[in-house]
Amino acid sequence: MISFYPGPSKLYARVPNFLKDACASGILSMNHRSAEFEDLFKRTVDLLRQKLNIPSGYSLYFVSSATECWEIIAQSLIKKQSVHVYNGAFGKKWFDYTSRLKPEAVASPFDQETEALSVTKTFENAEVICFTQNETSNGTQVSNRILHTVRKSNPKSLIAVDATSSMGGIELDFLTADVWLASVQKCFGLPAGLGILICSPAALHRANELNERNHYNSLLFLEEMAQRNQTSYTPNVLDIYLLMRVLEEIKPIDKINKSLVARYRKWETMFDSKGNQLQLLIKNKAVRSHTVLTLEAEPDVIQLVKSKAKQAGFILGEGYGDLKNTTFRIANFPALKRNEIARLMDFLYEFI
Ligand SMILES: *Cc1c(COP(=O)(O)O)cnc(C)c1O
Repeated sequence: MISFYPGPSKLYARVPNFLKDACASGILSMNHRSAEFEDLFKRTVDLLRQKLNIPSGYSLYFVSSATECWEIIAQSLIKKQSVHVYNGAFGKKWFDYTSRLKPEAVASPFDQETEALSVTKTFENAEVICFTQNETSNGTQVSNRILHTVRKSNPKSLIAVDATSSMGGIELDFLTADVWLASVQKCFGLPAGLGILICSPAALHRANELNERNHYNSLLFLEEMAQRNQTSYTPNVLDIYLLMRVLEEIKPIDKINKSLVARYRKWETMFDSKGNQLQLLIKNKAVRSHTVLTLEAEPDVIQLVKSKAKQAGFILGEGYGDLKNTTFRIANFPALKRNEIARLMDFLYEFI
């Protein structure tokens, strides 16, 4: 079976070997305050910086999930008000979780088909403006250019970006925002259970001003521990190890981005050129995600394609939330190989 699920997703092919190496190396039984762990932490952070082009002034933290990052932002970077600009289920969930901790959070939903640029307005009083860079539920993305414009029109606000299903696949311009978050079971092609949080100097400055220290994962504690190449609790050492090994092998992000977009164009051409009963859900080409494709059809067609795909050895991503019966999703993640995509294209061609 080849999984095209957009998370948890297909693992990088060499992960089974890395798993064996992890066991053999002894690192999994070592204390997370040991020098060996500190070396692993440091090397993985350095590789992330290097391969993803993360600015040297930004700090990196390992946590358990992207969802945990949402809470860390709410507790450690927002005193009263954040604004959540979203167009899908993950952005809304982020808003919902934040409102429980900070009831003055404001939702600013937008419609990607008509309003892509309206998100670039000025948000008065927003301490943090939250964007979902790649909305995994419907296959849309917010471009580096739009984030850049938002930053310019809101110099007093921190910008926080959920890049869970694009980091590791798409070249992100980290300077356009202050907080970036992701987890590794999407574009990093790894087992779930590890989140990556990235903060700008301005974000840390804000954390110091608020001085929130009520949680084991308060940002200031994460920062103090990270300075020693440690974490504030026993982390997922296995996933950090696997991440290190994957990062050692992958190309720099500009190269990955280039081949991913080229693959995406092939998918797009295929669906747009025919597109009778099966079509891309998003019509506005400018906002289509390069890493997650969402296909729309009548419910019986969706049912048929999914069950035939399973018989043919493909796992497709279920439609998410409200879109469950009328869509399915296809991951265009870096761990998928060219011939695997070619096989799925052949299979889907007759249904378009
Ligand atoms: C998958 C996903 C999440 C949740 O990730 P967890 O690691 O399960 O917390 C959050 N945001 C987006 C955009 C996602 O795709």
